[in-house]
Amino acid sequence: MKSIFLKRGKDESLKRFHPWIFSGAIHHMSEEPVEGETVAVYTSENEYIATGHYQIGSIMVRVLSFENEEIDQSFYERKLAIAKDVRDRIGVTGENNNTYRLVHGEGDNLPGLVIDIYGNTAVMQAHSVGMHTDRKTIAQALKAVMGDTLKNIFYKSETTLPFKAELGQENGFLMGGDTDDVAMENGLKFHVDWLRGQKTGFFVDQRDNRSLLERYSKGRKVLNMFCYTGGFSFYAMRGGAELVHSVDSSQKAIDLTKANVELNFPGDTRHEAYAEDAFKFLEQMTTPYDLIILDPPAFAKHKDALRNALKGYTRLNKKAFEKIQQGGILFTFSCSQAVNKDQFRAAVFTAAAQAGRNVRILHQLHQPADHPINIYHPEGEYLKGLVLYVE
Ligand code: SAH
Repeated sequence: MKSIFLKRGKDESLKRFHPWIFSGAIHHMSEEPVEGETVAVYTSENEYIATGHYQIGSIMVRVLSFENEEIDQSFYERKLAIAKDVRDRIGVTGENNNTYRLVHGEGDNLPGLVIDIYGNTAVMQAHSVGMHTDRKTIAQALKAVMGDTLKNIFYKSETTLPFKAELGQENGFLMGGDTDDVAMENGLKFHVDWLRGQKTGFFVDQRDNRSLLERYSKGRKVLNMFCYTGGFSFYAMRGGAELVHSVDSSQKAIDLTKANVELNFPGDTRHEAYAEDAFKFLEQMTTPYDLIILDPPAFAKHKDALRNALKGYTRLNKKAFEKIQQGGILFTFSCSQAVNKDQFRAAVFTAAAQAGRNVRILHQLHQPADHPINIYHPEGEYLKGLVLYVE
C-alpha cells in the first residue's frame, strides 16, 4: 500500500477522528497513488495513523479506518453489518417500513458511500473515486449482509462523482435488474424510479418530518410545494386533509406524484397536482391554504453561493408568509449543507418580518436517525426545517 506522510502537527484532527485529510496537510508521498487507491497515512514521526481512499482535490484522503487493517470485502461486510444493526435497533426497518438509508457516508464511517434500501432493492451511490473503485467489492459485501431479502443492487453515481476523474461512470445494475418497484414508508406505498429519479429515487430523509405533518393535516387545505414524488402529499391525505395541492416545476415529478397518490388513495378527489414554477404559483394562487410545505432543492451547493441562497430562502418564505391563512402552519426546509441552522433561521425570520406576520416556532426539524451525523464530522448535518405557526 502506498504511504502518505503528514506535515508536523497536521495529525491533530485525525487524532480527534475527523475523517478527511486536506491537501495542505500532506508533506510527501512514498509514490503518487492512482485516484481511488487505498493509502496508509503516517504522522511526521512516521507513526501509522489512518487508512483511506486517495483522491485529487482539496480533500485528498477520506479515512476508512484508524486501525491498520485491509480494506477488502470482509472490511465492508463488517461496516455494513454494523450499519444494518443500527437501523434494526433504531426501529426504521419493519413490515410497515422497508425504505431507509442503510449507509450515510461519514455518519456510518464510510465516507463517500450512500446506500438506500427500497424493499428488496438497494440503490448505491458513490461520492468519491475510492468508493467507485470498490463498488463491486461493496456489492458483494452488501449481498452477504442483506442475504435473500436483497434482489437488486442498482449503482447510480453518474452525477455524484467528480467528472475530472474521467471514470466513464455509468449507472447500472450490479445485481438483479428490476426497474420499478413499489416500496413502503410508514405504511404508505410509492413507486421508486431508481433509473431516472433524483438522488437515489426518493427523498428518504423526510420520513419523520412527513409523519409530523400528518398530525397537523386534519381538516386543512394543504399546499405541498416542491413535491417531487409527492411524499408529503400522501401523508397529508392520510392525516385527513380537506384538500391537497402538489406543485413541482418538473412534469415527471407531477406524474410520479399522481401515480403515488393513486396507489394509496385511488379515486380520491381531494388531490390535485400542478407542473408549475414555485414562485409563479405562490404569486398567482388564490386557494386559502392553511398548511404549506416548502421543501426546495439545495439553493447553495457550495459556500460561494451562500449569499444568493439565503436571499432565495427569504424570497420564497416571504411569499408563503404573505399568502398563508391566519392560524396557518408552515413547514419550511433547507437541505443545503453550506447553509447552517442559524443562517437558515435568520433567512426565514427575515421573510416573516418582511411579510409583517407574527410567527412562532412549533418544531425544529432535522434529518432522521438513519442519516446519522458523525460527531467528529459535523459537516454531515444538512437537513434543517422549521414548523411555524403563523398568526
Ligand atoms: N419534498 C420532496 C423533495 C423535494 S426535491 C420530497 O419529500 O420527496 C426538490 C424538487 O423541487 C424537485 O422535484 C424539483 O423538480 C423541484 N423544483 C426545483 N426548482 C423548482 C421551482 N423553481 N419550482 C417548483 N419546483 C421546483
